[in-house]
Amino acid sequence: MTTLLDTVVPARAPWSAVVRQGDVLTIVDLEGNQAVDFLLYALADDAERYSAQDTIAAQGNIFLKTGAVLLSNEGRPMATVTATNVAYHDTIGGACSCESNTLRYGHHTKSQHACVENFLQANARHDRGKRDMVSNINWFMNVPVEADGALGIVDGISAPGLHVDLRAEMDLVVVVSNCPQINNPCNGFNPTPVRMVVAG
Ligand SMILES: [Zn+2]
Repeated sequence: MTTLLDTVVPARAPWSAVVRQGDVLTIVDLEGNQAVDFLLYALADDAERYSAQDTIAAQGNIFLKTGAVLLSNEGRPMATVTATNVAYHDTIGGACSCESNTLRYGHHTKSQHACVENFLQANARHDRGKRDMVSNINWFMNVPVEADGALGIVDGISAPGLHVDLRAEMDLVVVVSNCPQINNPCNGFNPTPVRMVVAG
């Protein structure tokens, strides 16, 4: 395969790119335990977008591992996790926002940058707004679910240099927030850059 794109997304930054059907996007957690909040839209019609519910229901598991097929709200495969050396990735923890930060961590966090703002910024150039944001994927984020159903956002299980490979099953717009959160362990309290490589 030929490398079509190879870039580093700075800590706390938004990012988006078109990834064509059959191409492979590799996301590298350069320094370890960096949550990469992630949305997918069909390039042909962005009313079709990633659906966490459909993906979880179809695979019968709440975690994303090698072999996971990321489904759209129309039940079609958007991408496949062809390889990852992290045990599992999250798709239920959601994206951080200024509003949820103030509820969880106090009013002093109101001005801190958050994933919702990154998603809005990355989507703005495609004329998408708040109502186009749906439940997302958090690559490299550890959200264990206890036997009683309780969620946690706890110390990560990723490490420097670990990666996830995604094969596009249709032409996609990939939208990313390199999570700026500093109030819980999802980024090891220290947001860091990630690398994006597209090959085809
Ligand atoms: Zn975040």
